[in-house]
Amino acid sequence: MPAARVLADYFDRIVVIESDTLPGGASPRPGVPQSQHLHVLLAGGQRALSSLFPGLEQTLAAAGAQVLQVSTASEWQYPGYESFPKRDLGFPAFCMTRPLLESVVRNHCAAIAHMTTRQRCRAQRLTASEDGERVTGVACLHSDGSVENIQADLIVDASGNGQLTLNLLAALAIPAPRETVVSVGMGYSTTMFEIPANPPAEWRMVATLADPPANRRSAVLAPVEGRRWMVTLAGRHDSKPPEDEAAFMEFARQLRTRTIYNAIREAKRCAPILRYGFKASRWRHFETMERFPSGLIPIGDTICRFNPIYGQGMSVAAKEAHLLRGLLQSALEKGTNLSSLPCAFLAQTPSIIDAPWTTSVIPDFLDPLTAGERPPDLEGSLIFGAALRRLAYEDGDIHRLMLEVQHLIAPRSILREPAIVARVMAVSARAKEPSGCQR
Ligand SMILES: Cc1cc2nc3c(=O)[nH]c(=O)nc-3n(C[C@H](O)[C@H](O)[C@H](O)COP(=O)(O)OP(=O)(O)OC[C@H]3O[C@@H](n4cnc5c(N)ncnc54)[C@H](O)[C@@H]3O)c2cc1C
Repeated sequence: MPAARVLADYFDRIVVIESDTLPGGASPRPGVPQSQHLHVLLAGGQRALSSLFPGLEQTLAAAGAQVLQVSTASEWQYPGYESFPKRDLGFPAFCMTRPLLESVVRNHCAAIAHMTTRQRCRAQRLTASEDGERVTGVACLHSDGSVENIQADLIVDASGNGQLTLNLLAALAIPAPRETVVSVGMGYSTTMFEIPANPPAEWRMVATLADPPANRRSAVLAPVEGRRWMVTLAGRHDSKPPEDEAAFMEFARQLRTRTIYNAIREAKRCAPILRYGFKASRWRHFETMERFPSGLIPIGDTICRFNPIYGQGMSVAAKEAHLLRGLLQSALEKGTNLSSLPCAFLAQTPSIIDAPWTTSVIPDFLDPLTAGERPPDLEGSLIFGAALRRLAYEDGDIHRLMLEVQHLIAPRSILREPAIVARVMAVSARAKEPSGCQR
């Protein structure tokens, strides 16, 4: 929808092709099975969405999204830290279910007269010009069995799985893009509880993070609309969370701290327990392809699926929509045609993906069972990350910088500025002394 919103400023007619029946309100739907699990919207994604949908933050809040100041209201329990300092880092976080976010975004789009959505319509195949240089349309199957060929000047593949793009490349005998794959073996279990009449005063959100391999269990409890806590348990490999209630509670009890367990053990559960398996993060490097057809833009998960525990996917997709807007605007101003748009877009996607990919893949390798392409200087990055966290614990300015990078509102390079590196290295040296600090 963010990509469709961008196209609406530059094209006469936008058609969104959606295989699901879209609910009128904030209800889950089968095409996005992950939507019943906690979906954190990072500040970078929130800002990108707000600039595409002015007034989004107010609409979200009015619809019941919970607005938390980062990180005064959050209890962050990193390995080695029972509780990270609660400081006002100057930006809010919106907590809501993914279906609520989707429905609010859909309502914003509904006001765009030249955008229509074909529901219960499955995109089956992308069609291309005879010479295979240009994508010309989409062959779609409607729920009544009829087939429609929709012609278009530009097609955005936001299908999540990217199969349409990969099938087209295969049909055109274009080699598939190189992939970086990191196997993380994640399992999720999620449910919701009514927030009790007297919830703990010290926090509104809690994240208890794993300390692999000793403890592979993580969990996040966040307030969402309808005075509910959404609780997602996450575990890796042999520690995947279960589906039945007793085992769910036992998993929560075995987290590194009892904060979440204590909060939910007397609370009333108000949703089923649902599971989701996520095997591997995968980055398709379309940007390195020697040949790519014009008229086609892969976006979002079609390009890169991140380990969901870091909450990055929606924000990256929203930032990519933003990038698309910038390129369309520049093409309009320069009067250039659209044939070079896909390559220009794909060439710039690493500038959006690199930082969240690195931010997630490096800590993933703390678990010895993580498999795949290791980032360069993994050992050094892990040591740097641990020392940076220690420094952030001690110093509010560094804490803010660390969170701004995590929330995709500051470049990762900011943490490599010489003054910061010197301080991080001093902490790292201190940690090697006999009285060394926690990780
Ligand atoms: C368990 C889990 C938890 C997550 N938590 C977070 C989080 O906390 N924060 C975050 O930012 N991200 C999170 N993510 C990632 C996030 O869900 C994705 O990155 C994001 O939804 C990607 O958007 P997308 O548009 O690329 O694909 P999707 O959101 O998957 O949307 C694809 C759409 O295309 C439709 N579709 C697919 N194929 C067809 C077809 N052939 N024809 C017609 N329609 C089709 C689907 O019905 C769907 O509407 C999580 C992911 C998982 C798995």
